[in-house]
Amino acid sequence: GALPGWDQVDVLVDDAYRFALRGTGGAVADYIPALAQADPDLFGVAVAQVDGGLHAVGDVDVAFSIQSISKAFVYALVCQNFGHEQVMARIGVNNTGLAFDSVIAIELNDGHPMNPMVNAGAIAATALMPGSTPGERWEAIQTGLSAFAGRALALDDEVYRSETATNQRNRAIARLLESYRRIDTDPLDAVDVYTRQCSLLVTAKDLAVMAATLADGGVNPVTGRRVVSATVCRDTLAVLATSGLYERSGEWLFDIGLPGKSGVAGGIMAVSPGKAGIGTYAPRLDPAGNSVRGQLATAHLSRALGLNIFASD
Ligand code: GLU
Repeated sequence: GALPGWDQVDVLVDDAYRFALRGTGGAVADYIPALAQADPDLFGVAVAQVDGGLHAVGDVDVAFSIQSISKAFVYALVCQNFGHEQVMARIGVNNTGLAFDSVIAIELNDGHPMNPMVNAGAIAATALMPGSTPGERWEAIQTGLSAFAGRALALDDEVYRSETATNQRNRAIARLLESYRRIDTDPLDAVDVYTRQCSLLVTAKDLAVMAATLADGGVNPVTGRRVVSATVCRDTLAVLATSGLYERSGEWLFDIGLPGKSGVAGGIMAVSPGKAGIGTYAPRLDPAGNSVRGQLATAHLSRALGLNIFASD
C-alpha cells in the first residue's frame, strides 16, 4: 500500500523518535579517535518521501561523518559505470558473515573482496571509480554523493586526519587485495580516497534524502535530478539487503524488512522502494557497529508505516 497521509506520517515519526529514546545501551565508536568525541545523546530521525516531502524530529541538522554509509553510494556510482555483470564478478554480492574489516574473509575467498559493504569490497569499489588520478576519483565521489544528497557535502578534516593516522588495517587490506591482483590502482591511494569518502559530513536529513533517491529509482526527489539509473538502484538495494548491517544483516532484514546501511559514526539509512528514505543519527552503537537508537526508530517506522518489503498487504 501507499504511505499514510502527511499528518499521520508526522505523528508516526514522532512516535518512532520517542520509542527509540528508551534505547540507552551501546557505546560511541572510539577506534577512530575523532569519533569518540561525539555527544552520545544526540538523536535525530528523518523521513524523506519520494514526493519530496520531509518529516524530521530531533537532532536532524547535526553533521557527522557518513562513514560506511558512503559504501552504498560509491557502489551505486561504480555500478552505473561498470554494469551488473562486471561488478558482480569483481566485487561480489555475498555476505562474509564476518566483521566489516575482516582480513580472514579475504583469505578464505582467494582474495575476492566478497561484497562492497565490507572494507575490502568498498576499497576495491573506490578504486573502480572513473578518473585517471586519485584526485579525479575523489572528485567524482564527492560530486556523486552530493548529487544523492541534493547539496554540496564537505569533508570533516579532523575525522579524515584522525582516521588516516589510525587506518593501518585498511592499508593492510588494500595491500592484501593487491597481492591477489584484485585492485588495479595504487592500493594506498585507494585507501586514501576511501578514507575521504568516509569523512564526508551528512545530517540525518541528508541520509533520508540520499535514501529516498535510491527509493525513487535514482532521481533525487528534492532536486528532481537523476543521479543513477533505476537498475542501479535495484542492484544496490539487493546488496544492502544481504550486507548493509554488518554481520547483523540477517537480523535487521528479519526484524525490519528494508534494505539499509549503517556507519560507525552513528548514522543509519533505510530504503523503502517507491515510498521513502529513512535517515537516523545516534552515536551509541551495538557490538556490530550499528546505532542502537537508529535501529529502534527504523524498526518502529517500518512496522507503523507498513514498509516491510516482504509483507504482502
Ligand atoms: N571508515 C571506517 C573504517 O573503514 C568505516 C567503518 C564503518 O562505518 O563501518 O573503518
